[in-house]
Amino acid sequence: MTNILIIEDVQEIGENLSEFARIAGFNSHYTETYSTLSSKQLRKASHIILDLNMPELDGLDILDELKIMSIEAPIILCSGMSDDIITSAIDVMNELGLCFGGCLPKPFTFEQFTACISKASLAPSAASNSPQDISKIRLTKGDLKVALQQGWFYPVFQPQIDISDNSLMGIECLARLHHPLLGQYTPDDFITRLVETDLIDEFTTVFIRNTLKDLISIGYPRDKRISFNIDPKSLHRSLLFDLTCYLSSQHIQPEQICLEITELSALGLTKELRTLLTKIRMSGLHISMDDFGTGFSTIHELDQLPFDEVKIDREFVSKMTERAGSLAIVKNIVSLGHDLNMIVVAEGVETKEQADMLKQLNCKYMQGYLFSKPVKLDELALKLDHKEQVIEYW
Ligand code: C2E
Ligand code: CA
Ligand code: CA
Repeated sequence: MTNILIIEDVQEIGENLSEFARIAGFNSHYTETYSTLSSKQLRKASHIILDLNMPELDGLDILDELKIMSIEAPIILCSGMSDDIITSAIDVMNELGLCFGGCLPKPFTFEQFTACISKASLAPSAASNSPQDISKIRLTKGDLKVALQQGWFYPVFQPQIDISDNSLMGIECLARLHHPLLGQYTPDDFITRLVETDLIDEFTTVFIRNTLKDLISIGYPRDKRISFNIDPKSLHRSLLFDLTCYLSSQHIQPEQICLEITELSALGLTKELRTLLTKIRMSGLHISMDDFGTGFSTIHELDQLPFDEVKIDREFVSKMTERAGSLAIVKNIVSLGHDLNMIVVAEGVETKEQADMLKQLNCKYMQGYLFSKPVKLDELALKLDHKEQVIEYW
């Protein structure tokens, strides 16, 4: 049953929307005063039409409240504002985990109205990607300890491609957890818990050792890079010492290994940090600034610390073909990285259009679903054996 809730304080527009809903055979409820709506009315709605810019109501505040009420219905933004403002509002909705149902211009025709409602009906519900929906059990310290002891963490591998000749430049090793009783977990579920429970150091050491052992077992080429993600919390001398000892015991050249680090400035740009990173580089290891352009990573750090690789966050890559702003950011990160003599890797490349655009910007290294999703060890071994048959790009 289509139950459209219209939040609009311009009477003429509100009545127009209600009339269209009636003609199209939908139920609708139109209100000029958001504050009088009951939570029952909000929850009953199958679609919500919200005017972003109303004389008396603030559409963005209402979005916050819809989030607090865990509203899952698709929300259609009705607005006469410019595209960049609407794009920002959609970003706000995504951040809040609300379901974006589409845009209705002002003024709108009956055809535009019905098309918008049908399209919104197909939008994935906010519940399907909201954290509350994950029926996963929060991992306790005990769960994580057992998982470490039992070897339930395992790596998956995502190729990084040198687009100039479609060859393999290296792989990023990404952690997964398969708990036999609790199910499958991704890093977003367990890395923070490992940090909170002080198990991150043990995890990092064990994960890197086991993964390298796995890679040796399939004869992973000695001249291709192997990248690991390192949480800043486990970035200290003992990690470096342990890692370099292990590499030497396995006759692995440190130059083959790259440590991808995010959110470094959470630690503060101290002399100790600079010394440690310099030591890491002096040992031959590479260090990469991950997720560049988001969160805490700054140009200042890139300049002050001895990184030799920078990864452009997929947030920008995914939007670069649609948003002039994202394209400009990508373009500038590529040239900044090159000016600083760094390897620049674009992550999250999903379409040929993005790859072509990156190529034009001189970004030589790419990673993303276009080339391969992260794969398990046996599949990586197959890909390495039958490289030419796999896909157009790799
Ligand atoms: P990240 O380092 O930015 O890794 C890239 C993430 O993007 C991975 O998610 C990967 O599966 C995903 N990805 C790669 N290509 C595409 C694409 O084309 N499209 C989309 N939509 N996604 C793509 P994953 O494996 O879930 O890892 C999430 C984050 O968890 C990683 O982000 C990394 O920060 C962290 N992580 C993973 N493994 C480890 C680990 O062993 N240690 C630490 N400390 N963190 C880890
Ligand atoms: Ca990474
Ligand atoms: Ca990223």
